[in-house]
Amino acid sequence: MNCHICGSNSLFLFSSKIISRFEISYFRCHSCGFVQTEEPFWLVEAYASAINDSDTGYIERNILYSKKLTILIFLLFNKSGKYLDYAGGYGIFVRLMRDIGFDFFWDDKYTNNIFAKGFEWNGDGKVDVVTSFESFEHFVNPVFEIEKILNISKNIIFTTELLPDPVPRPEEWWYYGIEHGQHVSFYTKSSLHYLAEKYGVFYSSVGSLHLFTERRIQPGLLAISKLSRLGLHRLIQRMMKSKTWDDHKVFLNTDPH
Ligand SMILES: [Zn+2]
Repeated sequence: MNCHICGSNSLFLFSSKIISRFEISYFRCHSCGFVQTEEPFWLVEAYASAINDSDTGYIERNILYSKKLTILIFLLFNKSGKYLDYAGGYGIFVRLMRDIGFDFFWDDKYTNNIFAKGFEWNGDGKVDVVTSFESFEHFVNPVFEIEKILNISKNIIFTTELLPDPVPRPEEWWYYGIEHGQHVSFYTKSSLHYLAEKYGVFYSSVGSLHLFTERRIQPGLLAISKLSRLGLHRLIQRMMKSKTWDDHKVFLNTDPH
């Protein structure tokens, strides 16, 4: 099997039972370390619900990312720019960021937009940054998906847990997600560096937040996002104008009859 990132040889790593039903194989690239499952035939069962039932961290994660991204966008990008949350799920993150004052839009092929209705991305105009949280590990064909995102913007901020070293057994790492079967791609720093080089962007990371950017970012600036713990995002929020009320007015002006 060839590595889905760099095309090198991927060797059998282990097999594991997923969704309590299917025994499947995992493969590891000997060059970039990327781990992938065999061709996933179980996705219809795995995606019976797009947001898997065991994902108790869904809301907490969105709130945490909104704090960190408030700091990062304010420091590194155009705070009045246009932003897209790709694979944005129920729209919670888009709503949170609009409430803070960032012009975020939503896009997701697989999930219903519940909280960011009216702010679906229409594919037009320049997007300063694409965010995408907990989606890369779902990509069956990561290169195809990442190219699609890079065509929208050369700046991507995303999260995915990197493979620990040494590579854990299936029962040793929750992120394999064997109970829901939706995670099929597991990245290493080396596989993300490979992608950045291939597409001529810079790779940087802080914790499980990863960035592909057009220009190089000073590592010290990224570390500032950790100051969300001390409430830095709240100071920034005071300098922003929330869109909560303006967004509401859009609906008041729409006459359904
Ligand atoms: Zn590889």
